[in-house]
Amino acid sequence: MEPRILLAHGGGGGASHRLIQEVFYRYLGNDILLQGNDAAVFDVVPGKLAMTTDCFVVQPIFFRGGDIGKLAVCGTVNDLAVSGARPLYLSLGLIIEEGLPVELLEKVVASIAAACLEAGVKIVTGDTKVVEKGKADQLFINTTGLGIIPESVRVGGEMARPGDLVLINGNIGEHGLAVMSERAGINWETPILSDCAALHGLIAEAMEAGAVHCLRDPTRGGLATTLNEISRQSHVGIILEENAIPVSGAVRGASEMLGFDPLYLANEGKVVVIAPPASAKAILERMRRHPLGKDSAIIGEAVAEHPGLVALKTAFGGERLLDMLEGEMLPRIC
Ligand code: MG
Repeated sequence: MEPRILLAHGGGGGASHRLIQEVFYRYLGNDILLQGNDAAVFDVVPGKLAMTTDCFVVQPIFFRGGDIGKLAVCGTVNDLAVSGARPLYLSLGLIIEEGLPVELLEKVVASIAAACLEAGVKIVTGDTKVVEKGKADQLFINTTGLGIIPESVRVGGEMARPGDLVLINGNIGEHGLAVMSERAGINWETPILSDCAALHGLIAEAMEAGAVHCLRDPTRGGLATTLNEISRQSHVGIILEENAIPVSGAVRGASEMLGFDPLYLANEGKVVVIAPPASAKAILERMRRHPLGKDSAIIGEAVAEHPGLVALKTAFGGERLLDMLEGEMLPRIC
C-alpha cells in the first residue's frame, strides 16, 4: 500500500481495489460487505424501517474523546436510536483529499470498526472518492443508517404533552468545546473530552423502564435548540430548571472564559428523554445505572402555557426565554 492517498485510489481501478482490500475490508469486513456486488443485499424482518443520513466534516479529524470516524458511526446510530429503532446497517461514503497519509485513514477506519462493534452495527456498503489536493480538507464522511422499529414503539418530537418531564443523561456542552479547543490549540487544566458515544443501549433501557414520548440527541445547536424544536412540534411550552442541568466545572469555566453558553454547545453522546410523570422516575433510575447515564437528571417539564417557547428558570429565581440557535456558533464541529 502506498504511504499517501493518490487520485488513483478513487479511480475504481487497481489502486482502488488495493485500498478496499487492504484498508476497508481488512477493518470492516463482514458477510454482507464482502459480497462485493454493486449493492448490499440482506433480508429484512417485518416491521417499520428507519433510515437516516449524516455528513461529517469535523476539523480537526482527531480530537480529545473521538475522531471523525467514531463520530460518523455514533451520530448515525444515535439518530436511529432516538427514532426508536434498533440500528442495524450503515453505509460509508468517503471523500478524501489527495495526499492524506494512508496511516491516518487507517486510524479513522480502525476507529469506525471499533465504534461499529460497540454499537452492534455493520458497514454493508461504501464508496470512496479522491479529490485533488486543496479541493477538500483531509477527509469528509457520509454515513446512512438503517434500523428496525419494533411494532410496539412510537416516539416522536410531536408527542410531548403538558406535564411530561424532561430528562437528560449527563453533562452538556462537552463535544462542542472539545473540538473547538483542539482546533484553537487550547489545553485546559482539566481536559475537556468529547462525549461522543453510541446511545442505543441506554435508550433501549430507558424505553424498557417506562413509557417515553420523545427522544432526541441535542447535537448542533445544543440542548436549547433541541428543546425549541420539540416545543414547536408538540405545541407545548417547556420550562427548564437551570440548577438541575448537569454541566461539568471544566465546561462551565471554559464557556465563561470564551463567552459560550453550554445550553447551545453541541453534544454527541447526550439524549433528551421526554416522558410522562408516571414513568419518569423509573426511567431516571434506570438511566443512572447505565455507564452513559450516571449523571442523568430531570431538568424540566412540558407545560400548556407558551406553546412553542422554551423558558429557563435561572439559578437566581428569574426566568428567561431560550431561543433557537440562529446560524452557526461553531462551524465544522461534526
Ligand atoms: Mg439527531
